[in-house]
Amino acid sequence: QVTIFWFRRDLRLEDNAGLYRALKTGRPVLPLFIFDTTILDKLPSRADARVEFIHQEIERLHGELEALGSTLLVRHGNPLEVWKELLREWDVQAVYTNHDYEPSAKDRDAAVAELLSENDTEFRTYKDQVIFEKLEVTKADGDPYVVFTPYSRAWKAKLEEKLVEVEEDPDAKNGQSDKLSFYLKPYPNERYFDHFHQTGSTEIPSLADMGFEPAGIPFPDREVSRELIRNYDRTRDYPAIEGTSRLGLHFRFGTISIREKARRAAKLNGTFLNELIWRDFYAMIMDNFPHVVERSFREKYDQIEWRNNEQEFRAWCAGETGYPIVDAGMRELNTTGYMHNRVRMVTASFLTKHLLIDWRWGEAYFAEKLLDYELASNNGGWQWAAGSGTDAAPYFRIFNPESQLKKFDKELRYVKEWVPEYGTKDYPAPIVDHKMARERCLATYKAALDRG
Ligand code: FAD
Repeated sequence: QVTIFWFRRDLRLEDNAGLYRALKTGRPVLPLFIFDTTILDKLPSRADARVEFIHQEIERLHGELEALGSTLLVRHGNPLEVWKELLREWDVQAVYTNHDYEPSAKDRDAAVAELLSENDTEFRTYKDQVIFEKLEVTKADGDPYVVFTPYSRAWKAKLEEKLVEVEEDPDAKNGQSDKLSFYLKPYPNERYFDHFHQTGSTEIPSLADMGFEPAGIPFPDREVSRELIRNYDRTRDYPAIEGTSRLGLHFRFGTISIREKARRAAKLNGTFLNELIWRDFYAMIMDNFPHVVERSFREKYDQIEWRNNEQEFRAWCAGETGYPIVDAGMRELNTTGYMHNRVRMVTASFLTKHLLIDWRWGEAYFAEKLLDYELASNNGGWQWAAGSGTDAAPYFRIFNPESQLKKFDKELRYVKEWVPEYGTKDYPAPIVDHKMARERCLATYKAALDRG
């Protein structure tokens, strides 16, 4: 009999909530990862850097587990079908995993849970990818917050409580306490690692076996210096400097622990902590209001008559709008799979407000390109820019790309890096006049909101 631990977006052995719980039962734990063809088949490119990254991390985990005398079972297929096979191959007593909040992932888990229950196999899942989930931080009446600032205040107060509990609980520190799902470090220690199922070595499919190839984009480091976090509030807004952590990809796939980073942030820099709270906030919003995945959080905004000009959309994608900060951002994205947050805000605002193109088009383009793509945060960022979201900038606040450039890239270092022809005759004229676009946007939004 084995207990299977199913890795999904928590690709690490340390400080992994569900894995720790599984090992703690003392029963042999067999780790598993499934390359999910229902997701992979939909990807537009065979050279997807995210698939390459996951594959690299799976190889690492496989190596770490084999060094512990165990292995990582790796399958490639539709998860429900894979589970049917696994139940035939193994005598599975229980399956442990971590919560996943995306609507499609929740459907998948519900189907697997049903299959397992027909087989009398326990299915247990734990909070791991956020600090506080769905209804852990709510208004006094128990309703979820939909405005960030009061949410973040309540979130911080709750974090403070948890950190004090940890400080005061000796059992939590040496790994004996069960009450703190918040703080799992320093375990699982060696004692827990003894509980991995000792089995023969297994093979894992190569990237090519699955029909993928490397994208040739370097991945950001999982380490970030204390200095960077300490200075974060002063450096984060300038796209020309390395002033942000670039940890997004690692949070996305759980190759680092959010608990560990939040604890550090709480000591080192409140502004950095605030960004981690935004991440929890958008995950919480998606979990409580799943309609945001398809529609505007505020219904009225679905009345907007988007222009959706395809030629303009293509110019935006390619970074050829004639607005240097927009073009630099899009080219950075196309080349590296990354775009600085300030520039994400400017490019998203430009697409939705200057060009009046549906935020869902931009969202889908970012989803295809971003290494750190995360449904909840990407959707939250786009709806914020379009003005249709929870905590949105009012629609009449329209970023002026010229003044954003003057404020955040005064010396044009970022622009020159990505748009070397800027200032020459090869650089295109602006695709749209700022003043005209601003007025057109205000009129279009007003008409929609009056109707709604
Ligand atoms: P840092 O500035 O170092 O921040 C640290 C971490 O905090 C990030 O890695 C991220 O996990 C979290 N974070 C920071 N800002 C936000 C935010 N506004 N919302 C939610 N989490 C945040 N973030 C994603 O992780 N995935 C996305 O797909 C994504 N799409 C976005 C789309 C738009 C239109 C906008 C405006 C923002 C988007 N963001 C997204 C948020 C933010 O831009 C990125 O998290 C950040 O730029 C990633 O770089 P970093 O790791 O250096 O972040």
